[in-house]
Amino acid sequence: MDLKNKRVLVVGLGKSGISAAHFLREQGARVTVSDSRDAVALAGEIPALLEAGIMVETGGHGLLTFRRSDLIVVSPGVPMDTPELKQVIAFGLPVIGELELASRYLKGKIVAITGSNGKTTTTTLVGEILKAAGLPTLVGGNIGLPVIDLVEKSSDESVSVLEVSSFQLETVEKFHPWISVVLNITPDHLDRHGSFENYAAAKARITERQGSGDFLVLNAEDKATQMVAGKTNAQVFWFSARRPIKQGAFVHGESVLFLPKEGGKAEPIMPVSEIPLKGAHNVENVLAAVCVARLAGVSAEVIRKAVAQFKAVEHRLEFVASVAGVDYYNDSKATNVDATMKAVASFDGGIHLILGGKDKDSDYGQMAELLRERVKAVYTIGSAAEKIEHQLRGVVKMKSAGTMQVAVQDAAESAVPGDVVLLAPACSSFDQFENYEHRGRVFREIVAAL
Ligand code: ADP
Repeated sequence: MDLKNKRVLVVGLGKSGISAAHFLREQGARVTVSDSRDAVALAGEIPALLEAGIMVETGGHGLLTFRRSDLIVVSPGVPMDTPELKQVIAFGLPVIGELELASRYLKGKIVAITGSNGKTTTTTLVGEILKAAGLPTLVGGNIGLPVIDLVEKSSDESVSVLEVSSFQLETVEKFHPWISVVLNITPDHLDRHGSFENYAAAKARITERQGSGDFLVLNAEDKATQMVAGKTNAQVFWFSARRPIKQGAFVHGESVLFLPKEGGKAEPIMPVSEIPLKGAHNVENVLAAVCVARLAGVSAEVIRKAVAQFKAVEHRLEFVASVAGVDYYNDSKATNVDATMKAVASFDGGIHLILGGKDKDSDYGQMAELLRERVKAVYTIGSAAEKIEHQLRGVVKMKSAGTMQVAVQDAAESAVPGDVVLLAPACSSFDQFENYEHRGRVFREIVAAL
């Protein structure tokens, strides 16, 4: 793609938008960035952009800015049904995302990991295993480091392990992973994708350009994920924590095994007891990582050691402290119902659960049976509190806490030794916090003060 003197518009000034703008400028493009936030909100970003010779439009989008562009690069945070975007797409202008742009310049091979939950954990783990095997590994994407920032460091030998979201996959065209992984597809972001079908279809696009020399790793226990197998030309490998499968990674008895081909001999990888992460969902993440690592040629011995040394990523079922015999866990990243259910299922009972935040059109009623079984009380916070209380009325003891401070205090007062206080809120954080990291940090600080 020759960008010299092309008029390129970057829509949305998040981390990846800013990186994309600078990259495009370095390629000689005439770059404008447009964000709906005002200049005050973007004061920290604007000077460096102007200095690099990038034009900045704030406080809304000018249709003309869009119409006179040769290429439009959208940030994952910007919905594709933004009126200006809809118009230019109808007008035939090329609109791509930062992932697509970056992947056209990224050298070497791509391992791409998507799913509703477990992306960051699995991406980090795969990165650790490949590094332990001595492969020239880069890690980026939705995980915090924009893919475009990996371009400069990449070489023909690189393996880039990328966490990719459904928003990023919405705007791919030529994006072509060597190995792609779909961990699970459960309802999330329905407020933005409109329907579960649209959301699942966006995830399936990860494999759109894969061919017979590529690999697709899928969860054998997840219905929506299984459907992706019907949409690929890649070789499909499966993982299951419940039963042997014909090709891929699975748990049998007390061991993790890998079966390289149908009818072949299963290779022992490691005992399940050596997996240091809590919860059955993390066994699935490990199985997916085992598949990727074996496909990339890493030995069982290296995989076993790297998995055994792996620590839970911050805010993912992270152990915070034990206070007066009560364990506190921070799963602030549980921003949807499925992640919360997985967190609750990781403990036998005695749970005091903090739920709430900003609703994403979720159905909290799905949790009723599991909560009745394991949860002693729910403490609600944030703007979704009323909806949660309504949908879970009569299921468990419920307290309207309103804020994190009150929720932790109430939970600490009610909990008895052996109980667990779990922050796994099933909602996003933007009503009361900057993001889920901020919410998790606030939780940890309140626990530390107990
Ligand atoms: P993502 O990057 O997809 O959001 P994370 O690894 O950050 O995934 O985990 C997000 C949330 O989902 C956390 O609450 C975590 O405990 C939970 N989780 C992790 N792996 C899985 C999985 N395989 N299935 C369901 N929930 C999971």
